[in-house]
Amino acid sequence: MPPPDFLPALLRPELAELHAYTPVAGQFAVRLDANESPPLLSAEARAALARAVAPEDWGRYPDARMLELREAIAARCGAEPDEILAGAGSDEVIATLLTALSRPRPGAPAASVVTVTPTFVMYRLSARARGLRAVEVPLDPSWDLDVAGLVRAVELARPNVVFIASPNNPTGALMSRDRLEAVLAAAQDALVIVDEAYIDFAPHDQLALRRTYPNVAVLRTLSKIGLASLRVGWLVGARELVAELDKVRQPYNVPVPSQRAAAFALRELDGELRSAAATVVSERERLARELAGLGLEVAPSHANFLWVGTRRPAGEVFEALAARGVLVRSFHAAGGRLARRLRITVGLREENDRLLAEMAACA
Ligand code: PMP
Repeated sequence: MPPPDFLPALLRPELAELHAYTPVAGQFAVRLDANESPPLLSAEARAALARAVAPEDWGRYPDARMLELREAIAARCGAEPDEILAGAGSDEVIATLLTALSRPRPGAPAASVVTVTPTFVMYRLSARARGLRAVEVPLDPSWDLDVAGLVRAVELARPNVVFIASPNNPTGALMSRDRLEAVLAAAQDALVIVDEAYIDFAPHDQLALRRTYPNVAVLRTLSKIGLASLRVGWLVGARELVAELDKVRQPYNVPVPSQRAAAFALRELDGELRSAAATVVSERERLARELAGLGLEVAPSHANFLWVGTRRPAGEVFEALAARGVLVRSFHAAGGRLARRLRITVGLREENDRLLAEMAACA
């Protein structure tokens, strides 16, 4: 007998508009699609990490308070350990904070978030999966914040959370400080998350905003600087906020090997991680020059990827590159001004050379 079709009546209605996150499968000689760091860590660093991960006792749960890891993060961010919430990637931190900060404003049917578009999709997906509304304000023609649009959205939607990634994904741009402050001034009764996932490739950060605006928290991750396999990300914010989020965080959310490797990397591998990031930045600048030399429009980037305008529809260039073994990220499905845009992660020098050669053949 077939099972009764019980599921649809149980699912959150918002799930009908969501899709599972499935990166492109298949074999590609060069993968420049996921904003990971190329393998730049030295053999010594990799061996030291491998030694650091092993738990003293495989049978015990991790330290639920993650003290060692939060101390290492706090030291790096000029914060106190109780101002740090760590998660299995910043994705999990985003989910945790949206679970906690979801009380509808008086008179509103659901809580909402405000963000920009294009930006990192998890703000919207994580919000929708928890029944929050998501309002997206288009970036201006230079991919910077549209202050008037954002202020209007904040006034109308009365969001619980505002998400601004800087540098932004997929555009690579740092948001102007004065525009960011104008949005902060308008959103004083919301939590404003400044997502600095790509800050290691940028000239300056916005951690100091926390001192002026108590409603600001900053997101960081190890995923972009060579340690994506660990799934370690964190929020730096007011201790009162962290204490509330801690009630929602799953116990033992970051496994022992990840906690140990991350704490070790933050404490002992800082120089290596910084020099790997500097290598990516210099390759980024070279790749940008060479792509521009091919006649493509390349937006200024402060991240580990480039936001490239194509002459042909981006979907065609994406397919042609993939057929030649080079995977990048296309946003053509969104249409409009994204129909001719590709996001290309900076790889190893030889991977970038391969991309350039194939791009010359098919752009
Ligand atoms: N924020 C931004 C802006 C990102 O681009 C990403 C990764 N694509 C993340 C957060 C999530 O990073 P992770 O969960 O790996 O820490």
